[in-house]
This record gives sequence, C-alpha cells and structure tokens, in this order.
Amino acid sequence: MILQERLEQAFQQFGWTRIPDILHHVAEEASNENIPYLEFLDKLLQEELTAKHDRFIKMKTRMAHLPYRKTMDQYDFTFQPSIEERRIRDLATLRFVEHQENLIFLGPPGTGKTHLAVALALEAIAKRYTVYFTTAHDLVQTLQQAHRNNTIQQKMKTYIKPHILIIDEIGYRKMEDEAAHFFFQIVSERYEKGSIILTSNKSYGSWGEIFGDSVLATAILDRLLHHSSTVNIKGESYRIKEKKKAGFFRQDKQEEEK
Ligand code: ADP
Ligand code: MG
Repeated sequence: MILQERLEQAFQQFGWTRIPDILHHVAEEASNENIPYLEFLDKLLQEELTAKHDRFIKMKTRMAHLPYRKTMDQYDFTFQPSIEERRIRDLATLRFVEHQENLIFLGPPGTGKTHLAVALALEAIAKRYTVYFTTAHDLVQTLQQAHRNNTIQQKMKTYIKPHILIIDEIGYRKMEDEAAHFFFQIVSERYEKGSIILTSNKSYGSWGEIFGDSVLATAILDRLLHHSSTVNIKGESYRIKEKKKAGFFRQDKQEEEK
C-alpha cells in the first residue's frame, strides 16, 4: 500500500477530517522551511483540534434551537442607555451559570431581550455549556402534548438537563391552569440545579395575570428570583428605530422637514 493511502486510512480511522485537507501543503512548507518534526506534528494536531472544537460548537448551537444568531458585540449599548454595558459584560462571564442562578430580562418589545439572551447563549456554548431555547408558549404546548401522549417524563428532560434553559416571551399570552402548572414544574425542577434565562414584557407585578392564579405566580417567582438577577430595560424599540431610519413613519418625516 502506498504511503498516501495508508495515511488516509489512518486519518479516517481516527475520524480526523482537517489534517487530510492540509497535510500536503503543511508538509511541503515544513520541508521548504526546514521546520522541525515536532513543530510540524504540533501544527497538524492543533489544526485538527480547532476543527473538532468548531464542529462541536456548531452542533451544540444547532441543538440549542436559537431563533437567530446575534452576538454581544452586535448589541448597540449606546442605543439602550438603561442597560449598563459593564453589567452585561459581567453576566457574559457566565458566573451566574456556574452558580445555577437565573437571569431575567424585562422590558418592552424590541428592546433586545431576546438578542441578549441569544448572545449569552452563544458565549455559553463556546464555553461548552449546554443551552436550550424555547418560547414560553412552545414550552407549555410541548409539555401539554407530551402529557397527553404519556411522554411527559421524557420531555421534561429536554428542559431540565441543559445548563441553561432560555424561556422567551413570558407574558405575551395568559396561561391556562394546566400550562401554568407545567411551567411551575420546570421552574421547581431546575431550582438551584440549572440556570434559567427568562424574558418578559410584563413586570413582576402582573405575573399573577399571566398565570391566572396569584398563588401559583408567587410560588413561581419565589423559586425563580431566589438566586437571580433582573435586567430592566426601559427604552425604545430598536425595530422602530430602524423603521424610522428607513422613513416608515410620517411623523418622523414631518419632524425632519421642520
Ligand atoms: P425583544 O426585546 O422584543 O426580545 P429583540 O431582542 O428580538 O427584542 O430585538 C429586536 C431586533 O432588534 C433584533 O433583530 C435585535 O438584534 C435588534 N436589537 C434590539 N436592540 C438592539 C440594540 N441595542 N443593538 C442592536 N440590535 C438591537
Ligand atoms: Mg423577544
């Protein structure tokens, strides 16, 4: 068997995909530039490890079910002065995840709650934490369906196991009794075990309405807030800012004409 074939077979058996792509080029370079054997080997292995890490991150990102990809650096803090950038950067160190604490973003629509939750998720995945993103509505619908199919125990694991569970958009719809009960169960099961990042357009005072039962709302808030931080965003919608820029609003034009 010729050398080339034997190498290819070996790479295949190891499951290495990056080295075969670059071997020829790196070997040529090493021989032209008299690179020591160990340095050559190190370069190949580091390339393979980087590629493996990238594949892992890609897979974990897919599994997290994020609605879109937005990073911390894509967030314009100057547009939202009610948020202290330093505080968000501190949250991005993910110490709160290490300590199984929760994080709640409150604020009106379009202020970047989901964006920041997604950005933190990407930071977390890069640090090899597992993340699962769901909207509150999908969460309770999925659990209600699983309950009917007798697969609730199994389905609960999807929401209990990841290091971070993101529950987006609490409060857009009221929950029925059964839905609120499932929501409570998730919050209880994760309590002091794994972080929840939650977003809502409703202040805590109106959570009784969301869950249709103030006793249950209190029990949920009690567990959720015990080890947690809240980021209150008070500001204008970024979506509307972009529309204004594009001249969607007549009032805006009139202002400009003045
Ligand atoms: P919501 O608070 O309703 O969850 P989103 O996070 O979905 O809002 O933000 C709406 C859109 O505006 C997204 O595309 C998001 O990336 C963008 N966005 C919101 N705030 C900012 C910001 N301060 N800087 C950059 N983009 C922003
Ligand atoms: Mg949102």
